[in-house]
Amino acid sequence: MTVASILKQKPNRLISVGEKDSLADVAAILTRENIGAVTVLDGQGEMVGIVSERDLVRQIAREGAGVLGNSVASVMTKSVVCCTPEDSIEGTMALMTERRFRHLPVRSQGRIIGMISIGDVVKRRVEDAEREAASLRDYIVRG
Ligand code: AMP
Repeated sequence: MTVASILKQKPNRLISVGEKDSLADVAAILTRENIGAVTVLDGQGEMVGIVSERDLVRQIAREGAGVLGNSVASVMTKSVVCCTPEDSIEGTMALMTERRFRHLPVRSQGRIIGMISIGDVVKRRVEDAEREAASLRDYIVRG
């Protein structure tokens, strides 16, 4: 199973912000869209970073709620690790666990085409395990 099979089950859109948007804007988007991270795109649509709820919480803990007026550029992670649609689901799970982040933008032919989260990956693996158990049960019952 590959990342492409997860993307197929998700709405076909990338939720992103600009570097100059405020952290309050990011908090509003994460809440409205019920997600944990957004990609940061420049004026040309190139990805220049990622900002997650964890970045917001850390910054508020360090400097107080006043930081909500600061720009995305002040907290985003610039060096973004991506996956491709052809990558295995097991591989992305191992990568996210090892690097301790829960989001991976998906890059295909130089473009970011979506984002997967650890939640998507775990859901998919549980579904696969349940399907396998059901077919084994079926095999045993039918003999
Ligand atoms: P998360 O666990 O995804 O909320 O993110 C934890 C930290 O890792 C935050 O500082 C994020 O900006 C950063 N981060 C999240 N996803 C990625 C990624 N794919 N590549 C690099 N950094 C990331």
